[in-house]
Amino acid sequence: MKRCTKCGVEKDESEFHKRTKSRDGLCYTCTKCANTISRAWAKANPERKKEADRKYSRKIQQLEGFSIKQKERYAEWITKPGNAEKARLNGDKWRLENRDRFYLSVVRNDLKRWNGISSAPHDLCVMVLDTRATKRELRKLNQTIKEIQK
Ligand SMILES: [Zn+2]
Repeated sequence: MKRCTKCGVEKDESEFHKRTKSRDGLCYTCTKCANTISRAWAKANPERKKEADRKYSRKIQQLEGFSIKQKERYAEWITKPGNAEKARLNGDKWRLENRDRFYLSVVRNDLKRWNGISSAPHDLCVMVLDTRATKRELRKLNQTIKEIQK
C-alpha cells in the first residue's frame, strides 16, 4: 500500500504509475490524480500538449504496416502503467541490436532536419555516416597525438 501525495488516500501499488526515478519505482500521485493533473497541464499548456500528441501520433504512424486492430491494441497497451517505459526499453534494445540501421536513420533524420533532404537515398546516408566516423577517428587520433606530445 502507498499513500498518494495529492488525494492522501492509501491505495494499492497497482494504482500508481511506474516512475524509474523514484526510490520505490512508483509515482507520488495515484493514477487517478495523475490523470487529473495531466488534464490540467494539457489545458494550461495547449502548445506543449499539441507537440506531445504529435509525437504520439508519429509513434502510431511508425506502426504503419500493422493492422488497425493491432494499432488500436498498441494504443491501448501503451497507456497502461509501466508500458511506455517498457516500449522505451524495447526501443533501446532494438537500437543496440540494429546499430547500423539506427545510425542510418539518425543520419536520415538529420539530413531532413538540417539540409531539407526528405527521405535521403541510402548511399548518401552511408556516405554521411562514414564521414562522421572518419571525423570521430580523426578527433581520437588528434587526442592521442596530443597526449603523446605532453
Ligand atoms: Zn490520488
